[in-house]
Amino acid sequence: MRARVVVGNWKMNGRHESIDQLVKALVKGLKPGGQVEVVVCPSSIYIYQVCSLIEGSLVLLGAQNMSEHDDGAYTGELSAGMLKDHGCRYVVLGHSERRSLFGETDELVAEKVKVALAVGLTPILCVGETLNERESGSTLAVVSRQVRSVIDLVGVTGVSQSLVAYEPVWAIGTGETATPAQAQEVHLAIRRQVGEIDKTVADELRILYGGSVKADNAEELFGQPDIDGGLIGGASLRVDEFLSICAAAEMN
Ligand code: PEP
Repeated sequence: MRARVVVGNWKMNGRHESIDQLVKALVKGLKPGGQVEVVVCPSSIYIYQVCSLIEGSLVLLGAQNMSEHDDGAYTGELSAGMLKDHGCRYVVLGHSERRSLFGETDELVAEKVKVALAVGLTPILCVGETLNERESGSTLAVVSRQVRSVIDLVGVTGVSQSLVAYEPVWAIGTGETATPAQAQEVHLAIRRQVGEIDKTVADELRILYGGSVKADNAEELFGQPDIDGGLIGGASLRVDEFLSICAAAEMN
């Protein structure tokens, strides 16, 4: 049985006060004894604040991105070691906004996965197709290429220490969600791809779905056999909505 994970990606949102309210309400709203891992990924400048707010709670901390370099002369960048030093356990890598707006390639994302693993962070590797790619029938080929570039660099052992998030680009922030069947098809394909190398790693790999997950569609998505939780953008900024999504992950 794979433990479910729900990750909130706050993107470039929040201020001290709103973050204080959001995290305090989240910490209060999560009931002890739950089986779901709950992770929040604030904008990096607020990581320190969130780290102290979640102390002793069930909430875990992640970052949204990091440099592929170790510490050194990289002005404006944040290293994996710095994230670890500030209490992060997870780091989102290869989010479609990083790929499309900041030119991150499959190779760069794989490099970042390697660097994150080296310091003991758990990468949340994002993969997913654009609308054009889906409409031209290349969804599985695109996702498989994105996963393969990581396997090629860190091996299946590296994958076993990571989470994968399938996020169809056309569903991110659009209000349009993949149907449970569409998501399940891709999740199963990812698991099979890993399973061709190592069945145990594939069986244990946690694959999250992301793309306009909300309280009212989470339960059906999480009910699919190969969906092990969610990567939640917009809805993670509304505490009641996010808590309902966490509860839906708990339920099935
Ligand atoms: C995301 O940013 O990873 C995401 C899934 O966003 P949203 O839930 O808003 O579609």
